[in-house]
Amino acid sequence: MVLAGQSIGIMGGTFDPIHNGHLLTAEYVRDACGLEKIMFIPAANSPFKLDQKVVPAEKRLAMTRLAVEDNPYFEASDIELRRAGVSYTSDTIHELRRRCGKDTVLYFITGADAINELPAWHEPKRLLEECHFIAATRQGTALALPHLRDFFGSLCDEHIHQLTTPELEISSTVIRQRIREGRSIRYMVPSSVEEYIRKEGLYR
Ligand code: ATP
Ligand code: MG
Repeated sequence: MVLAGQSIGIMGGTFDPIHNGHLLTAEYVRDACGLEKIMFIPAANSPFKLDQKVVPAEKRLAMTRLAVEDNPYFEASDIELRRAGVSYTSDTIHELRRRCGKDTVLYFITGADAINELPAWHEPKRLLEECHFIAATRQGTALALPHLRDFFGSLCDEHIHQLTTPELEISSTVIRQRIREGRSIRYMVPSSVEEYIRKEGLYR
């Protein structure tokens, strides 16, 4: 549910699987920026992973739901699973904008590295007009501000914000690899997610 007049954070990703790095970053940004809630939106067909084999979207959504269920500020959204074709962030934000009205501010949370690539995303200008970006700075990646200003003009400084966040050296890639190798993923993902992965026999 999206209510009018709120500040909402959005974490998009493949979440294959969702892990504590995603959760820690989202909670840190929510607290630092005073956001009313965070929506976790698993991509059905990520434009960046079209050539990669990923776990079916329903299962990635199920893990996302389990991961967020104990945080009253978090919610998992199936908005990209309901849409056919490639899951473009610009379409998702456009749909959320339409649903929540002009008083709600949307903050898309992602790494500085991803924001530096924003000009190459689908419909980047419409996207940045319709939401703000929070660059969660990890691994010392700085925002390429001259390049972004050149492309987006004044919208760059108005809608792109930097926040230094604590770093958890975890990625879904490493988790999938550890499972394949029979190693522990305890404390890297919520225990409910770990249990789901085991029951479903994922990533082996
Ligand atoms: P993969 O290794 O499969 O690419 P990932 O761990 O990078 O997975 P994604 O689902 O691709 O996870 O990422 C979704 C979002 O989460 C991206 O914005 C990414 O920058 C961010 N993210 C990924 N890992 C972390 C982490 N450890 N801490 C903070 N943010 C993260
Ligand atoms: Mg990634």
